[in-house]
Amino acid sequence: THFGFQTVTEAERREKIYQVFESVAKKYDVMNDSMTLGIHRVWKDILMHKMNPSPGTLLVDVAGGTGDIAFRFINYVRSVRERQLQRKLKHHQNLSWQEISESYQEGKSKSLGNSQVVVCDINKEMLKVGKQKAQDLGYSEGLSWVLGNAEELPFDDDKFDVYTIAFGIRNVTRIDLVLSYRNKLTASALSQALQEAYRVLKPGGRFLCLEFSHVSNPLLSRLYDLYSFQVIPVLGEVIAGDWKSYQYLVESIRRFPPQEELKAMIEDAGFFKVDYQNLNSGIVAIHSGFKL
Ligand code: SAM
Repeated sequence: THFGFQTVTEAERREKIYQVFESVAKKYDVMNDSMTLGIHRVWKDILMHKMNPSPGTLLVDVAGGTGDIAFRFINYVRSVRERQLQRKLKHHQNLSWQEISESYQEGKSKSLGNSQVVVCDINKEMLKVGKQKAQDLGYSEGLSWVLGNAEELPFDDDKFDVYTIAFGIRNVTRIDLVLSYRNKLTASALSQALQEAYRVLKPGGRFLCLEFSHVSNPLLSRLYDLYSFQVIPVLGEVIAGDWKSYQYLVESIRRFPPQEELKAMIEDAGFFKVDYQNLNSGIVAIHSGFKL
């Protein structure tokens, strides 16, 4: 492979991943849409419905990049609040003055209540694009951006209700060590990130991971291979002038542990009720678990 994953040091691996996202940051959203034909939006919506956050939820979105999950979370919580307020109004239940005033603001509540989302990413460029997007789209309440590493999160223990990581966990995989994990060696950056997820969640908190996974249907799998290896790097070159970063993307997807293996790793980090849902025959999967 062009990264020679089996031979690079950990520092080199990190540096290369940093460079990949530094170079794609400005084109990241356009590339996401063109490579997945916009379907990544649906996958992210499904993640949000699975989370089904209630007002008051404190979310950390790790490897949150340009804020896609955070913005969806804000929209979702606002709409839940809006429906709750409408229901209360309809049934003339006890409303606080704040709720009454909110419900009359432009006919609907724009408030997040006390919900909050923290976007944490290791890459300054990705965060910069995300912050600009938030400003352009008018998101600010309940939203913060933190530079940090998934393997060593800059947060206290037992802090968040939900931890999400969308298309990010693949990047904290030390491929050599994941291969050894199959031979029952436990040390890996991926396990480290999972343990960090566990640490920062409150008891009762939920872990949700959206990631490219492995396709079970043989015909679809061949088509998908063809698309990944022949089309994606070309799209990367044409749209972002960056063949290598998109070749990295395809390779990292292939090398990522399959659904059952990731499930076992999440369980090993201490999570309970670990399960996954395949989307589009396993092109992506959502893994979920709870800290008890
Ligand atoms: N979650 C966003 C989304 O779904 O659109 C962005 C996903 S993007 C494919 C992967 C992100 O992971 C990049 O923003 C990258 O900077 C970040 N990342 C890579 N390694 C990381 C690490 N060790 N800790 C935190 N973020 C990391």
